[in-house]
Amino acid sequence: MIETLLRNNEEWAASKIAEDSDFFSRIAGQQSPEYLWIGCSDSRVPANEVLGLKPGDLFVHLNVANIACPSDTNFLAVLQYAVETLKVRHIIVCGHYGCGGVAAAVDDCRHGLVDHWLQPVRDAADEFADHLLRIRDEDRRLDALCEANVASQVCSVACNPIVQDAWRRHQSLTVHGWIYSLEDGLLHDLDCSISSFTGLSSAFPAKLSGQIGAPMKARNGGVRGTWP
Ligand SMILES: [Zn+2]
Repeated sequence: MIETLLRNNEEWAASKIAEDSDFFSRIAGQQSPEYLWIGCSDSRVPANEVLGLKPGDLFVHLNVANIACPSDTNFLAVLQYAVETLKVRHIIVCGHYGCGGVAAAVDDCRHGLVDHWLQPVRDAADEFADHLLRIRDEDRRLDALCEANVASQVCSVACNPIVQDAWRRHQSLTVHGWIYSLEDGLLHDLDCSISSFTGLSSAFPAKLSGQIGAPMKARNGGVRGTWP
Protein backbone atom coordinates (compact mmCIF):
# COMPACT_ATOMS: atom_id res chain seq x y z
CA MET A 1 0.00 0.00 0.00
CA ILE A 2 1.42 3.35 -1.03
CA GLU A 3 0.04 5.01 2.12
CA THR A 4 2.35 2.79 4.14
CA LEU A 5 5.32 4.60 2.67
CA LEU A 6 4.10 7.95 3.96
CA ARG A 7 3.47 6.50 7.41
CA ASN A 8 6.95 4.95 7.35
CA ASN A 9 8.37 8.35 6.50
CA GLU A 10 6.59 10.04 9.41
CA GLU A 11 7.96 7.41 11.78
CA TRP A 12 11.47 7.76 10.33
CA ALA A 13 11.46 11.56 10.64
CA ALA A 14 10.19 11.33 14.21
CA SER A 15 12.89 8.80 15.11
CA LYS A 16 15.63 11.05 13.70
CA ILE A 17 14.36 14.00 15.74
CA ALA A 18 14.17 11.80 18.82
CA GLU A 19 17.85 10.92 18.34
CA ASP A 20 18.96 14.44 17.46
CA SER A 21 16.52 17.34 17.73
CA ASP A 22 18.62 19.57 15.41
CA PHE A 23 19.17 16.90 12.75
CA PHE A 24 16.99 18.32 9.99
CA SER A 25 17.58 22.00 10.73
CA ARG A 26 21.33 21.36 10.60
CA ILE A 27 21.43 19.59 7.23
CA ALA A 28 18.71 21.77 5.65
CA GLY A 29 21.14 24.68 5.51
CA GLN A 30 23.75 23.05 3.30
CA GLN A 31 25.32 19.75 2.32
CA SER A 32 29.02 18.99 2.45
CA PRO A 33 29.48 15.33 1.56
CA GLU A 34 33.02 14.01 1.10
CA TYR A 35 31.93 11.22 -1.23
CA LEU A 36 30.32 10.86 -4.64
CA TRP A 37 28.82 7.42 -5.23
CA ILE A 38 28.30 6.25 -8.82
CA GLY A 39 26.27 3.07 -8.52
CA CYS A 40 23.71 0.82 -10.16
CA SER A 41 19.99 1.61 -9.94
CA ASP A 42 19.40 -1.91 -8.56
CA SER A 43 17.05 -1.70 -5.55
CA ARG A 44 19.17 -4.15 -3.58
CA VAL A 45 22.15 -1.80 -3.26
CA PRO A 46 21.09 1.10 -0.99
CA ALA A 47 24.22 3.24 -0.97
CA ASN A 48 23.83 5.19 2.29
CA GLU A 49 22.69 2.08 4.14
CA VAL A 50 25.52 -0.25 3.08
CA LEU A 51 28.08 2.46 3.90
CA GLY A 52 26.54 3.35 7.26
CA LEU A 53 26.26 7.00 6.22
CA LYS A 54 23.61 9.54 7.21
CA PRO A 55 21.68 11.95 5.00
CA GLY A 56 24.07 14.66 3.91
CA ASP A 57 27.13 12.38 3.85
CA LEU A 58 26.92 10.98 0.31
CA PHE A 59 26.23 12.55 -3.09
CA VAL A 60 24.67 9.87 -5.28
CA HIS A 61 24.38 9.16 -9.00
CA LEU A 62 22.63 5.96 -10.06
CA ASN A 63 22.00 4.38 -13.44
CA VAL A 64 21.69 0.93 -14.98
CA ALA A 65 25.04 -0.88 -14.57
CA ASN A 66 26.86 2.06 -12.90
CA ILE A 67 28.17 3.59 -16.10
CA ALA A 68 30.19 6.82 -16.15
CA CYS A 69 29.21 7.82 -19.66
CA PRO A 70 31.09 10.92 -20.90
CA SER A 71 28.15 11.93 -23.14
CA ASP A 72 25.50 11.62 -20.39
CA THR A 73 24.64 15.17 -19.36
CA ASN A 74 22.96 13.95 -16.17
CA PHE A 75 26.16 12.23 -15.07
CA LEU A 76 28.32 15.18 -16.14
CA ALA A 77 26.18 17.65 -14.20
CA VAL A 78 26.41 15.47 -11.08
CA LEU A 79 30.16 15.02 -11.51
CA GLN A 80 30.83 18.72 -12.05
CA TYR A 81 28.72 19.80 -9.08
CA ALA A 82 30.29 17.15 -6.84
CA VAL A 83 33.87 17.99 -7.82
CA GLU A 84 33.75 21.74 -8.35
CA THR A 85 31.13 22.91 -5.85
CA LEU A 86 30.91 20.26 -3.16
CA LYS A 87 34.60 19.41 -3.57
CA VAL A 88 34.17 15.76 -2.70
CA ARG A 89 37.44 14.03 -1.91
CA HIS A 90 36.48 10.56 -3.09
CA ILE A 91 34.49 9.25 -6.05
CA ILE A 92 33.37 5.65 -5.58
CA VAL A 93 32.31 3.71 -8.66
CA CYS A 94 30.47 0.73 -7.21
CA GLY A 95 29.12 -2.20 -9.18
CA HIS A 96 27.54 -5.34 -7.82
CA TYR A 97 27.74 -9.03 -8.58
CA GLY A 98 24.67 -10.43 -10.30
CA CYS A 99 24.01 -7.14 -12.10
CA GLY A 100 21.11 -7.57 -14.53
CA GLY A 101 22.30 -4.63 -16.61
CA VAL A 102 25.73 -6.18 -17.09
CA ALA A 103 24.13 -9.52 -18.00
CA ALA A 104 21.78 -7.84 -20.48
CA ALA A 105 24.73 -6.19 -22.19
CA VAL A 106 26.14 -9.52 -23.34
CA ASP A 107 23.16 -11.90 -23.56
CA ASP A 108 22.68 -11.44 -27.31
CA CYS A 109 19.00 -10.48 -26.88
CA ARG A 110 17.20 -7.24 -27.72
CA HIS A 111 16.03 -5.21 -24.71
CA GLY A 112 15.23 -1.84 -26.27
CA LEU A 113 16.84 1.50 -25.43
CA VAL A 114 18.96 0.01 -22.69
CA ASP A 115 20.95 -1.85 -25.35
CA HIS A 116 22.34 1.51 -26.44
CA TRP A 117 23.01 2.58 -22.88
CA LEU A 118 24.91 -0.64 -22.12
CA GLN A 119 27.48 -0.27 -24.91
CA PRO A 120 30.22 0.73 -22.41
CA VAL A 121 29.74 -2.66 -20.70
CA ARG A 122 30.36 -4.41 -24.02
CA ASP A 123 33.42 -2.19 -24.45
CA ALA A 124 34.65 -3.40 -21.05
CA ALA A 125 34.01 -7.00 -22.14
CA ASP A 126 36.22 -6.40 -25.17
CA GLU A 127 38.86 -4.65 -23.09
CA PHE A 128 39.14 -7.58 -20.66
CA ALA A 129 38.30 -10.36 -23.13
CA ASP A 130 41.57 -12.25 -22.61
CA HIS A 131 40.76 -12.74 -18.96
CA LEU A 132 37.01 -13.18 -19.24
CA LEU A 133 37.13 -15.86 -21.93
CA ARG A 134 39.22 -18.10 -19.65
CA ILE A 135 36.31 -18.42 -17.23
CA ARG A 136 34.04 -21.32 -18.16
CA ASP A 137 31.33 -20.93 -15.53
CA GLU A 138 28.81 -18.45 -16.89
CA ASP A 139 27.85 -16.89 -13.54
CA ARG A 140 31.48 -16.46 -12.57
CA ARG A 141 32.25 -14.94 -15.96
CA LEU A 142 29.43 -12.44 -15.54
CA ASP A 143 30.71 -11.56 -12.08
CA ALA A 144 34.13 -10.98 -13.61
CA LEU A 145 32.53 -8.71 -16.18
CA CYS A 146 30.84 -6.80 -13.35
CA GLU A 147 34.33 -6.21 -11.93
CA ALA A 148 35.78 -5.33 -15.33
CA ASN A 149 32.96 -2.86 -15.91
CA VAL A 150 33.74 -1.12 -12.63
CA ALA A 151 37.41 -0.87 -13.58
CA SER A 152 36.52 0.50 -16.99
CA GLN A 153 34.20 3.13 -15.48
CA VAL A 154 36.90 4.14 -12.99
CA CYS A 155 39.11 4.81 -16.00
CA SER A 156 36.31 6.78 -17.65
CA VAL A 157 35.87 8.97 -14.57
CA ALA A 158 39.62 9.49 -14.23
CA CYS A 159 39.85 10.49 -17.89
CA ASN A 160 36.99 12.97 -17.59
CA PRO A 161 38.11 16.61 -18.02
CA ILE A 162 36.21 17.61 -14.86
CA VAL A 163 38.37 15.25 -12.78
CA GLN A 164 41.54 16.09 -14.66
CA ASP A 165 40.98 19.81 -14.17
CA ALA A 166 40.61 19.17 -10.44
CA TRP A 167 43.97 17.42 -10.41
CA ARG A 168 45.49 20.34 -12.31
CA ARG A 169 44.25 22.60 -9.50
CA HIS A 170 45.93 20.20 -7.04
CA GLN A 171 42.54 19.36 -5.57
CA SER A 172 42.58 16.19 -3.50
CA LEU A 173 40.41 13.70 -5.39
CA THR A 174 40.61 9.91 -5.63
CA VAL A 175 38.53 7.64 -7.84
CA HIS A 176 37.86 4.19 -6.37
CA GLY A 177 36.43 0.98 -7.86
CA TRP A 178 34.38 -1.19 -5.51
CA ILE A 179 31.94 -4.04 -5.95
CA TYR A 180 29.08 -5.15 -3.71
CA SER A 181 27.99 -8.70 -3.05
CA LEU A 182 24.23 -9.16 -2.87
CA GLU A 183 24.78 -12.49 -1.13
CA ASP A 184 26.55 -11.23 1.99
CA GLY A 185 26.14 -7.45 1.91
CA LEU A 186 29.89 -6.82 1.76
CA LEU A 187 31.79 -4.32 -0.35
CA HIS A 188 35.09 -5.28 -1.97
CA ASP A 189 37.79 -2.84 -3.07
CA LEU A 190 38.98 -3.81 -6.57
CA ASP A 191 42.22 -1.95 -5.84
CA CYS A 192 42.09 0.16 -8.98
CA SER A 193 42.01 3.54 -7.25
CA ILE A 194 43.58 6.50 -9.00
CA SER A 195 44.32 9.91 -7.55
CA SER A 196 46.60 11.62 -10.07
CA PHE A 197 47.67 11.85 -13.70
CA THR A 198 50.66 9.68 -12.85
CA GLY A 199 48.50 6.75 -11.85
CA LEU A 200 46.43 7.09 -14.99
CA SER A 201 49.31 7.25 -17.42
CA SER A 202 51.57 4.54 -16.02
CA ALA A 203 50.50 1.85 -13.56
CA PHE A 204 46.78 2.06 -14.15
CA PRO A 205 46.20 -0.26 -17.13
CA ALA A 206 48.63 -2.95 -15.98
CA LYS A 207 47.36 -2.79 -12.44
CA LEU A 208 43.79 -3.17 -13.58
CA SER A 209 44.48 -6.25 -15.66
CA GLY A 210 46.29 -7.91 -12.80
CA GLN A 211 43.77 -7.03 -10.14
CA ILE A 212 40.75 -8.04 -12.15
CA GLY A 213 42.37 -11.25 -13.33
CA ALA A 214 43.86 -12.59 -10.16
CA PRO A 215 40.84 -13.07 -7.89
CA MET A 216 38.68 -14.52 -10.62
CA LYS A 217 41.33 -16.97 -11.74
CA ALA A 218 41.67 -18.14 -8.17
CA ARG A 219 37.95 -18.67 -7.87
CA ASN A 220 37.59 -20.52 -11.16
CA GLY A 221 40.85 -22.37 -11.48
CA GLY A 222 41.75 -20.67 -14.72
CA VAL A 223 39.37 -22.80 -16.78
CA ARG A 224 38.67 -21.86 -20.36
CA GLY A 225 35.38 -20.95 -21.95
CA THR A 226 33.63 -18.59 -24.28
CA TRP A 227 30.82 -16.09 -24.12
CA PRO A 228 27.37 -17.62 -24.68
ZN1 LIG B 1 22.99 -3.65 -11.45
